[in-house]
Amino acid sequence: MMNFELATAARILFGAGKINDLPAIARGFGLRTLLVTGRDSLRAASFKQALEGAGVSCRTFSVPGEPTLPIVRDGVLACRDGCEFVISFGGGSVIDAGKAIAALTPNSGEPLDYLEVIGKGQQLQNPLLPFIAVPTTAGTGSEVTRNAVLGSPEHGLKASLRHPAMLARVAVVDPELTSNLPPHLTANTGLDALTQLIEPFVSCRANALVDLFCREGMKQVASSLLTAYENGGDRHARESMAFASLLGGLSLANAGLGVVHGMASPLGGMLSAPHGAICAALLPQAMAMNIRALRERAPDRPALAKYEEAARILTGNREARAEDATQWIVELCTRLAVGSLGDLGLHRDQIPVLVENAQKTSSMTANPLPLTEAEIAEIAERSW
Ligand SMILES: [Zn+2]
Repeated sequence: MMNFELATAARILFGAGKINDLPAIARGFGLRTLLVTGRDSLRAASFKQALEGAGVSCRTFSVPGEPTLPIVRDGVLACRDGCEFVISFGGGSVIDAGKAIAALTPNSGEPLDYLEVIGKGQQLQNPLLPFIAVPTTAGTGSEVTRNAVLGSPEHGLKASLRHPAMLARVAVVDPELTSNLPPHLTANTGLDALTQLIEPFVSCRANALVDLFCREGMKQVASSLLTAYENGGDRHARESMAFASLLGGLSLANAGLGVVHGMASPLGGMLSAPHGAICAALLPQAMAMNIRALRERAPDRPALAKYEEAARILTGNREARAEDATQWIVELCTRLAVGSLGDLGLHRDQIPVLVENAQKTSSMTANPLPLTEAEIAEIAERSW
């Protein structure tokens, strides 16, 4: 029986040049904003100028890497300096940081109080500041998700701050903003997008509406990721990847993820590698393991038929079997020069801790079937 619910950003603007519409829209949220950017805030200079031209004064806050609790704490202090709303202009880290700052600025206490797993999981009491997301990479889909992944250097872990009201009020996905993304970032973020289209598709929370997003998104990645990597100036490929990324965000926010993200979450705290690179390193072997476990223990689950369908979509071959999807991804990862977990700095003796922490994540509960500790360890070994 069909049964679903969909929650997303209140307003999504997609298309080349859409960024030019944003200053006038932003003015509707107030006169002063916290503009959250990446390491190099100059990349947002012309956008900032346009905002100021529309009568919105900006306080700039730069997020140099993946967001941590101390960074968010500083951002909240900056935002309390009279900002009425928050705009993030950057990759997934910048968007997650802005999302957390908008949520925590009107709420007292430490960011850790509100965090899942490592914090107190306290509920946000006061209404959040409006949040606007402008992604400049194509991968995380964070512009349409309701959580922010934050690292705690003290715990060596990452955990989510999550609330339905953390969904952006406006998400502007302008593919032209990704045209200067270097090849390795195009590869890592693009493979994160692919993971976020496959995992919700086979998830035990999959639904008929999300399935449509996943099918279309996988098609777009299959036709465009390699082109975007080899020829960053290809506007059509960039548009395709931006669309796929948005579809991945919509999918994961409404149908959950699986073992790749279940393992990527503790690995994000253990390694200094970016999230996309970690997902890329895990995807082929994690998928192979899920398919094997489904064939052995649960051949009647819809997830196995979904993997078969994913294989047909990705390879373009109507005869393809689930295992062919894995092979196709292995070949893609080779062409995109994706590193292994060992390359990313994981030591073999860290695998038991990784397995233990992966089992505790919420992503793992959405995996098409429960995996044993030995199976998760095998994924790590084979991805090492
Ligand atoms: Zn991801």
